[in-house]
Amino acid sequence: MLKKDDSIMVILSSPSGAGKTTISKKIQQKYQNFKISVSHTTRKPRPNEVEGIDYFFLSNDQFKDKIKNNEFYEYAKIFGNYYGTSKKSVIDLLKNKNDVLFDIDWQGTQQLSKHSELKLTKIFILPPSKKELKKRLIQRNQDKPEIVSERLNFYENDLKHKDDYDFVVINDNLEACFKKVEEIILSEKRKV
Ligand code: 5GP
Repeated sequence: MLKKDDSIMVILSSPSGAGKTTISKKIQQKYQNFKISVSHTTRKPRPNEVEGIDYFFLSNDQFKDKIKNNEFYEYAKIFGNYYGTSKKSVIDLLKNKNDVLFDIDWQGTQQLSKHSELKLTKIFILPPSKKELKKRLIQRNQDKPEIVSERLNFYENDLKHKDDYDFVVINDNLEACFKKVEEIILSEKRKV
């Protein structure tokens, strides 16, 4: 994989609803050089989601064609839908000398970690408790109740993978959590 020496690549993972998407968007807003790698998915768009900004939305067949053509660095099936990081999106970001933020799950993190040429900083964001996570998933009000309970069921399994990460940050307060993630990223950036 192409890697510009002064770019950094940061993975943010968390159980669904722990706040990682909000945090990655805040980083992108504050630091123009950080760009979120826009994933491809077969999940249906949520009402507020925009094609090409939140995701590239594909049919199952379109996604499977891309798998066949080896277009993904990594992909995973999550909650019954495919999600993947295309090589082209990442290469384009690096060509433009951007720093890259990946909002991907632990399966994608494991696959990207196999690319030893990549200098990845892996951050796992956790909610303060399962109870709080449930509250946030319900408040988010973007998913049907059965999807909320499915996502909660995956929480315990997600937790098992926290040791795959370089940093674990608890999101008990969005601003404080953002600050901690910001500190980690700035310190990694200083190293290059
Ligand atoms: P959501 O449906 O809530 O947008 O995302 C569900 C999960 O899929 C989240 O944990 C998110 O980080 C993960 N995800 C999003 N894009 C990708 C991707 O390209 N690859 C992998 N492995 N996971 C992804």
